[in-house]
Amino acid sequence: MNATRTMQLMKEYEVCQKCGNGHVGNGEGKLIVEDTTFHRSCKCGWEVTIEE
Ligand SMILES: [Zn+2]
Repeated sequence: MNATRTMQLMKEYEVCQKCGNGHVGNGEGKLIVEDTTFHRSCKCGWEVTIEE
């Protein structure tokens, strides 16, 4: 996934859409960016995976 698209998705999913938590790491949310997938999850259970 290229940097421009990654930045775009990070901006869109920076904050959890369920509880509004914007933290990543330290037992909070997760942010995983791989070649074809962008994954963002939150400790509340919300998660999103974008495959391109
Ligand atoms: Zn949340």
